[in-house]
This record gives sequence, C-alpha cells and structure tokens, in this order.
Amino acid sequence: MNNYSYVIGVDMGGTHTAFGAVDARGHIPCRGQILTGDYSTGESYTNALGDAINKLIEGNDLTGKVRGIGMGAPNGNMNDGTIAKAANISWAKTVAVPVAQMLTERTGLPCKLTNDANAAAVGEMTYGAAKGMKDFIVITLGTGLGSGIVANGQLVVGHDGFAGELGHVIAIRHNGRQCGCGRHGCLEAYASATGVARTAREMLDENPQKQSLLRNIVYRPITSKDVYDAAKQGDELAIKIFNFTGELLGAAFADFITFSSPQAIILFGGLAHSGDFLLKPLQQSLDKHILSVFKGKTQIVISQLNDAEAPILGASALAWE
Ligand SMILES: [Zn+2]
Repeated sequence: MNNYSYVIGVDMGGTHTAFGAVDARGHIPCRGQILTGDYSTGESYTNALGDAINKLIEGNDLTGKVRGIGMGAPNGNMNDGTIAKAANISWAKTVAVPVAQMLTERTGLPCKLTNDANAAAVGEMTYGAAKGMKDFIVITLGTGLGSGIVANGQLVVGHDGFAGELGHVIAIRHNGRQCGCGRHGCLEAYASATGVARTAREMLDENPQKQSLLRNIVYRPITSKDVYDAAKQGDELAIKIFNFTGELLGAAFADFITFSSPQAIILFGGLAHSGDFLLKPLQQSLDKHILSVFKGKTQIVISQLNDAEAPILGASALAWE
C-alpha cells in the first residue's frame, strides 16, 4: 500500500453529500459534508465538493497521504464515472455528468464512482461481513431495495455499468404495485421501507375489523419503523406484514441464488434491523423455494457495519483497489 495511508469516501445522497478520510483499518478520523441540492449544475456541485475535500485534506495534515477518492451515488456508473438519470438529483436527471473526472481535475486525486449498493458491497468485502468472500450479494433495504453483486471477487457491473438492479425484478408479483421506476410488481415496491409502509396501509384497509396498534397512527403516514415497533409489542397485523414481506423476499432470494450461487446474502439498511420478524419468514420462504442443489449453502447475514459510517466506508473501499 506504498506511502498512501488514507482514502476519501464520498456518500452522495439526495439531500446531503457526506465524506471522510478513511485509513486501512476502516477508521474515519475526519469528515465533512455539503448539501447536494444547493447546486443547479453538476459542475458547481462537483467544484464545491472538490474544494471541501481539498480543505479536509489540508486541514487535517493529510496532504500527500491520500491514495484516491471512492464515491457512491444514486445511479453512479462505474464504467464511465458518470451520474445519469438520477431521479432525485436535479442536475443529473437528463444529462450524464462526468463527476469522477471533474472531481479528479479539482483535487488531483484519482476517483472511482459507483452506485450506493455496489459501494456497500465493496465496503463489506473490505471491512465487513464479506471479508475473504469472493461470491456474495449485498441487499440494501432502505427507502428502496438496492443490490451489489460480487462474483469471483469482482463487482458485477455489466456492459453499461448498471448491472445489479435486483430491486426491480418483477417476477415476484405480476401486474403488482406500481414502482418508482414506472413499471408494476417490482420487488422494491414490496420489500423496502416504503413497501412495508404500503403493505401496512393495504392490510389495514383490507381488514377493517382487525384491531392493530397501527390504527392509532392517524396524524401522519405509517412508517416501517412503526410496523416494527408494533410487532415488538405483539401486534398481529404488524407481524403479518413482516411475514408477507419476508415471504416475498425469500422467494426472490431463491432466484438470486440460482443466478450467482453466493456464499452469503448480506442485508444492510434500516429494515435489515427488524430481526427475526423479517428473518424468520424470509429464511422459511427461502428454504421452501430454493432449488435443491443450492439448499442450505447460502447464509443470510445482517451487516455489522455501523449504518452511519458504512456508506462512507463502502465508497472509500473503491479507492484502495
Ligand atoms: Zn421498479
């Protein structure tokens, strides 16, 4: 690892872009952030980010010690370093912005860019549960469902850089719920924080006689966290919502496993912390649907990386490669 003892990890979200310097053991000694939405063009955003990174490096005496920048961003494309068709980023909705190249010009550091879920997969491989594994899948269960697939030790990115969109497989529910991508029946519309909240709404409406703690929430939309809190108190409807979600997710995982035969599927993100409420029905469904040659060979693991640090760690890991 020659003289460089740090990399910069950048986690770009719809509202904030957080970044930090990371050492080889995965410690983050210093960090910073800018607002993503404050800029009207990709250039002004990238310049502001580059300047903020330069300031972090100079201010913390890291000049000459940083190997490069790794960045995770919505629709970040590993093949050409651009962000394009990102629904929540005003300046990247219609044009492909070469963010990696622009950042390199501003900072003098090599920059690798990929989407958030791929960054999470590299993070698990470098610092987390997938250390030493060559075949695994990371599933991020947040607002949406993201996936990062590693096969033979390499991220699967495809010929156009966009591979691994397992949140948008539609085999699970034909003509099902409308998804943010415009199609119907995507896994993400069910198995994500948003999907769980939609299931809650549907089940409450379909079972008007059934009592549930969730009925007490009237002044704001129900969240997946509400469903979890209700399940913990033994609420039958909340438990049914998790059973339904786990069943769908387990069947989808059975399909994913037939594709790349992963050693593990690692779950990351808020919904992944629902414990056995989600894991039990998921595992049962997986065992029921899995092709017999794969039975019992893939572990389902919850990420042990800290939710607050993992996105920066994951992105930074790209820069060690
Ligand atoms: Zn979709």
